Amino acid sequence: MVNDGLACTPACSPSGSTWADASEEAQRAHIWRLLEQISDPEIPVISLIDLGVVRQVRRSDRSWEVVITPTYSGCPALSQMADDIVSAMATAGLPVRVCTQLAPAWSTDWMTEVAKDKLKAYGIAPPNRKCGAASEQTSVIHFMRKPLQAEEIVECPRCGSTHTFESSHFGSTACKSLYKCLDCQEPFDYFKPY
Ligand SMILES: [Zn+2]
Repeated sequence: MVNDGLACTPACSPSGSTWADASEEAQRAHIWRLLEQISDPEIPVISLIDLGVVRQVRRSDRSWEVVITPTYSGCPALSQMADDIVSAMATAGLPVRVCTQLAPAWSTDWMTEVAKDKLKAYGIAPPNRKCGAASEQTSVIHFMRKPLQAEEIVECPRCGSTHTFESSHFGSTACKSLYKCLDCQEPFDYFKPY
């Protein structure tokens, strides 16, 4: 259970005195803590917060809204993320609406450093560079945004070798490409910077 000073019990609900008596800031903090426990549907080791898709937790009339930005337009994981948020909040007795905000578009720059470490430990090479200024990010995500630069070096998440090559531009999902390490011979996913 989350221990955030709200002393929520399973019976805690917006109409219950515990939740209703909590300050707005305490309620907001409670929702953020619950969000930290929700995993990315595609990469269970990182949370939605780590991934950087949660933009805002905001008050809406007498309830709350969680604003998320998809990792790319048409991302099949988006509805799963929204369902997971609504269901986790419902379990905690909080009716929360999920809103989608497309601009500014999410980029891998929004991933936390913690997320990158977790990806690596999970066997996925994290994005190895920043995508640049937010102004370069349009509301449309291009799958082939930038060709891999010749000097782009992707480190093997298993042995740390930089003797790797891209064997397929699309890996297990569209946001990853498949690499192979020439030293340990292991194939691995690379989360492309975009
Ligand atoms: Zn290797």
